Amino acid sequence: LKKMGIQKKSETVRVVIRCRPLSKKEVAEGREKVVNMDYANGEVLVQKSVEEVPKRFTFDCVYDENTKQKDIFDETAFPIIENILEGYNGTIFAYGQTGTGKTHTMAGILDSDEHKGITPRAFETIFNSINIDETKQYLVRASYLEIYKEQVLDLLNKGGVQKLELKEKPGSGVYVKDLSTALVENPAKLMEIMVRGNKNRHVGQTKMNHESSRSHSIFTVTIECAEVGADGKAHIKVGKLNMVDLAGSEKQSKTQAEGVRLEEAIKINLSLTTLCHVISSLVDGKSNYVPYRDSKLTRLLQDSLGGNTKTVMVANIGPADYNMDETLSTLRYASRAK
Ligand code: ADP
Ligand code: MG
Repeated sequence: LKKMGIQKKSETVRVVIRCRPLSKKEVAEGREKVVNMDYANGEVLVQKSVEEVPKRFTFDCVYDENTKQKDIFDETAFPIIENILEGYNGTIFAYGQTGTGKTHTMAGILDSDEHKGITPRAFETIFNSINIDETKQYLVRASYLEIYKEQVLDLLNKGGVQKLELKEKPGSGVYVKDLSTALVENPAKLMEIMVRGNKNRHVGQTKMNHESSRSHSIFTVTIECAEVGADGKAHIKVGKLNMVDLAGSEKQSKTQAEGVRLEEAIKINLSLTTLCHVISSLVDGKSNYVPYRDSKLTRLLQDSLGGNTKTVMVANIGPADYNMDETLSTLRYASRAK
């Protein structure tokens, strides 16, 4: 009810903003907060000083620094997971500058009931629903890959990270050739797979953050559901959930990129720009050309973006003054996606 005032342009694509708290370091350095979140109106207000007129941005929903992990999950991820169990595809993206909380939003603190993120909660929700439904049979599979410099890498390959090819089959669409998939029986097994894959992730050391991720990671859970219909025949529905922790969106000048870092930055920029175009043309609904093919990320997710699918993008921002330019850039990106 508290969100009745917010007009939703699209039910299939939602863009929400999450602002993290000032870090201990930022507080110690006396950093000012330049971001205010207006939950009731779905607005983000950015202003350098109280005298300045704030810049305003409107979204489907906005979350301030006090938002609980459970609330983000319930409001953004849960509606998508419900759909997956009905045999539809869905995608959850975390977007933002490095250090703003993408990984906190997606993975969170895995061994904490309070601070675990969307992914572990999704695992539990999926199996809770499956386990109470005795009329149907389910098969759950997982895969985990990353896209680094426009190359698709398998994070679950036992013999080490493998470079894979995207292929297209008439009728069944785009797929990753030879991608490892694991059959999973419970949420603990899914967690085990995620932790295993995380160890293989590309982590670059930019000047901004020691653990800034320069690749997009995609954890996919595929749920196959078989039900015997009134006609005595088995009906099979397949739903796919993609959980995507995107590479940091920061501009390269800030990280003083050269060489490999610069190449990474160019590829990241290409795929994030394409993602924005794809989402906005889906929201718009009018354009008949959706540029899926312009990046590996969108091509790979083509069957989970648009059509009968649901997508949510959580754009993460930091509240501090020195991040204001990047924050505005994220808000503009997220606005354009809508
Ligand atoms: P990113 O993945 O975007 O680079 P992280 O998720 O690693 O950013 O977050 C950077 C730091 O900020 C981490 O120490 C994380 O625990 C903390 N953090 C991020 N979001 C929140 C939040 N909403 N509440 C508390 N701490 C947060
Ligand atoms: Mg991260």
